[in-house]
Amino acid sequence: MNRYDVIIIGSGLGSLLCGYILSKEGFSVCILEKHSVTGGCLQSFRRGDNTFDTGIHYIGSMLPDQTLHSYWKYFGLSQTLDLERMNGDGFDVISMDGRDYRLAQGFDNFVDQLAVDFPSSGDFLKLYVTAIKDTVSAFPLYNFELTDNPAKTTWMGTNAWDFMSSLAGDSAENRRLLEVLSGNNFLYAGRKSSTPWHQLALINHSFISSAWRLKQGSMQIAEHLISSITAHGGRVLTRTEVKKISPLKDKFQVSATGDEMFVASRIIAGIHPQSAISILEPSIVKRSFHSRIMSMENTVSSFGLYLGLKPGRFPYLDYNLYYHAGKDAWAGPKCKANEWPGMYFMYTPASAKQGDHTTALCILSYMQFDEVKNWENTGKGKRGLDYTAFKNERAEKLLTLVERKFPEIRSVINSMEISTPLTWCDYTGTPQGSMYGIRKESGNYLKTMILPRTKIPGFYFTGQNLNLHGAPGVTISAIMTCSEILGLDYLFKKIRDAQ
Ligand SMILES: Cc1cc2nc3c(=O)[nH]c(=O)nc-3n(C[C@H](O)[C@H](O)[C@H](O)COP(=O)(O)OP(=O)(O)OC[C@H]3O[C@@H](n4cnc5c(N)ncnc54)[C@H](O)[C@@H]3O)c2cc1C
Repeated sequence: MNRYDVIIIGSGLGSLLCGYILSKEGFSVCILEKHSVTGGCLQSFRRGDNTFDTGIHYIGSMLPDQTLHSYWKYFGLSQTLDLERMNGDGFDVISMDGRDYRLAQGFDNFVDQLAVDFPSSGDFLKLYVTAIKDTVSAFPLYNFELTDNPAKTTWMGTNAWDFMSSLAGDSAENRRLLEVLSGNNFLYAGRKSSTPWHQLALINHSFISSAWRLKQGSMQIAEHLISSITAHGGRVLTRTEVKKISPLKDKFQVSATGDEMFVASRIIAGIHPQSAISILEPSIVKRSFHSRIMSMENTVSSFGLYLGLKPGRFPYLDYNLYYHAGKDAWAGPKCKANEWPGMYFMYTPASAKQGDHTTALCILSYMQFDEVKNWENTGKGKRGLDYTAFKNERAEKLLTLVERKFPEIRSVINSMEISTPLTWCDYTGTPQGSMYGIRKESGNYLKTMILPRTKIPGFYFTGQNLNLHGAPGVTISAIMTCSEILGLDYLFKKIRDAQ
């Protein structure tokens, strides 16, 4: 028997941050990861000389005293990560209507740069930026503060599109700007009818504060955290899938790959709650809780091209490009097969930069899981020729859209890897390959909210399904989860003392 104070399921960012906190606090911790590689969405992979990131392409608020920097200082990440600052006057470029619009770093600069293209929209831009700042100040942990703010729940129940529309009014220029401000909604799998305003505000606030790429790829985050956890006496086991969790007196018994058994007083599930519920022994899960979790809907999945490029032929972009084929920035996730892809997100990894050029390019678009459902019960590498044909056909369609802006694209490609929603199922175990897990709904926010503490004593959730996905959201979730064990005041003081 392997006995621990805490077993953490999965080795994604949330799990690793919890593992770091608790092992540092003297708990015996063991992280169980089903895959051969740790990190979940933090994984990078190599093809030839190129390193491709999969689920972290850029991070925000990493200047000293900004939110993520402050938290990641406690974890030793702020001091260690090799970062490259993105273009100050346009870290995200929204391409729409045959024009490029730049989202700049720094709130005043953000307003100034957009005012060049939207000279009559100054008032709307100022209202938008003020609303983003007000919203963030209602979520104290996003401001590196503790005092709770009741305005939080109002923002969570506010629909992003409706709210922004109310700020924009009827002016034609403001309405066009509204689409541009929504143009990076791939960041939160935006849905006009349901995306809560606070998601848009918290995510954009982080990147407008400052936007960065990871020079050596996102895997450096996982590598740093794992070596720290190990140094604190913790263990991280790969190829160890948790199959079942059962009660054992006042503890839990965990069965994993190869009938290996573990015992722990506490379990933290850093995996999708639907996956977690399905491995918990039914006798310890209340029926109502089971049905609530299982009935929650997930965000859409993605389709990706990871291209190796001929040297010196394609420019290194110090920004991300969000290209939209039409005028509706929110059309992407619901795009029908015959209209697909409708939009794409493009970025060049910092690790592939060679002077002004890049040797690698990553292009992602939305894809519904239904598109690959036929092959859901097939194994990686054994999905058959029809699956390969499907992937190639979609790659062609995506490249055809890319050609509109980059006519040379096909002639500069050396190699191509393709990912579909099934790839995400294989590598992160997320149901339907969902990008950001459970879909939060402004109209029913409480119903789509997952709390770190459950009604099962000693069983906790962490990761992107809690309050928010992405680096800051998952970091704050990890702090909320561990504060259920350590106490928030105590933990926050420790984090503050590290500044
Ligand atoms: C395409 C894409 C692009 C993104 N881009 C960005 C970005 O640029 N910036 C940003 O900040 N965020 C980005 N995100 C979001 C961010 O990557 C995620 O929110 C975050 O990394 C999720 O972390 P997590 O802890 O929830 O776990 P995950 O990364 O989902 O990891 C879960 C882990 O659990 C393991 N597991 C599952 N079941 C079991 C089991 N039964 N037993 C053992 N192990 C198990 C999985 O193998 C996996 O390793 C992106 C996400 C996607 C999908």
